[in-house]
Amino acid sequence: MAKKKQPYFLFLKSLQAKDRQNGVNRDLSHYQAKAAELWNAMSHQERRPWIDRANKANLTTTVPVNFNGGEGRQSRAVSESQASLMEAVNLNDQALQEVDVLKRSCDLVNHVLNGIPVEELLSKKFFIVSSNVMVVTMEKDYYPVELGIMSYNLVGGIEAKMHDFVNPGPVPTGYMYKAKSHCEATHKIPLVPLPEAIPFTSEAYETLLTNITIFINDSKVRIGSQDKYVLFAHGDQCNQVYKCFEYLASRSNSDDFIKLFDEGRFSVIDLAVLLKQLLEVSGSPSTLFVCQDALNKVAYDFCPGSCDFHEEIDNNYCALGFARRLLYKFSDHVLPSFGITPVPDKHLPVVDDSAIRCEAGPLMDEELYPRRSAGGSRSVAGSVLRDVTSGSWDARSVTSNDSRFNPEDRLRDVMPVPGIVPSDPRRTGGIGRGVRPN
Ligand SMILES: [Zn+2]
Repeated sequence: MAKKKQPYFLFLKSLQAKDRQNGVNRDLSHYQAKAAELWNAMSHQERRPWIDRANKANLTTTVPVNFNGGEGRQSRAVSESQASLMEAVNLNDQALQEVDVLKRSCDLVNHVLNGIPVEELLSKKFFIVSSNVMVVTMEKDYYPVELGIMSYNLVGGIEAKMHDFVNPGPVPTGYMYKAKSHCEATHKIPLVPLPEAIPFTSEAYETLLTNITIFINDSKVRIGSQDKYVLFAHGDQCNQVYKCFEYLASRSNSDDFIKLFDEGRFSVIDLAVLLKQLLEVSGSPSTLFVCQDALNKVAYDFCPGSCDFHEEIDNNYCALGFARRLLYKFSDHVLPSFGITPVPDKHLPVVDDSAIRCEAGPLMDEELYPRRSAGGSRSVAGSVLRDVTSGSWDARSVTSNDSRFNPEDRLRDVMPVPGIVPSDPRRTGGIGRGVRPN
């Protein structure tokens, strides 16, 4: 019976084969220590060729299969169950990859938090990023059109923000329809670049990256002999945000920025991982699932705080607004464990009670009055207040768990993830992961 090939074993063999090509013949055990060290340092992406090779090898041979729980393990030709096996391999691969990413994220966040006394942790700056893209190509190039970055700390909340529109250059050939549909369905940033957008020149991209790295300077973590930028984003956006920055770096003139990515000194981590680790530090540990769920709640989805462009067109697929709302939800979940009282505008939306009482009149139903959401209930979002205070009441801006109140259906239950077009943008439930980027 053929033994199932393991990716690591193939990698180990390759080291031996390389030496053999050069006329050096050594026993396999000679390479074991070195191979293990190299393998452990490799990302899933770097291991990919070996995983693929192992999968391929295992498919062209036979694999052990247990029949009816009998004692003897028998083998049969793979061709009989190739499709289901391939499916299982892919799923398993995907799961492995996710576990790998998660493990690395946890390690990195531990590194970020490592050794910081709690009193310092309370004012430690974290940087939360969101992005919007024009289109994603088959080659997985993400064309950035908007970036929003928030500087946040536990005690002070949101303390600074950086926001830019980007001209990503011409629509790539063959992607006009996709780009147009995506922009129309989500952020509505026009394909003709906005006048304030960062121009599509290497100099302008370099300047933008320089400004960003100055802004996120405190996100740097010392790992070995290198400084690494560690940013946070919604779990579904980490890859997109990373790829947007990589796009800018690769088109800038700067070797320094290109190297930043080549050397893996730029990371975007799931904010839920930070939430989980912070809760652990506070002595109120929680599971990653609960943390992800907390950041996926629809609370605050219609709060103000987007950029001027998106406020103007009343569209909440704004990179800046998304980062802000994410931090409101983050604050909701983490502050009680540290005994911090949330500050409006810093940890939660501004609520102007007096304006509501004066102008909202019949809508001052206690049920509708904005209050902090508890558990899974949805809160009435702050954008209501903005609209009231500015004199243009718009019921569409309201989300509520009150069945008697009926905001326009098309906006209810929508949790937009900027830059990502879900196949069906309407969430069917209040709990669960958002839509993953392509
Ligand atoms: Zn915006």
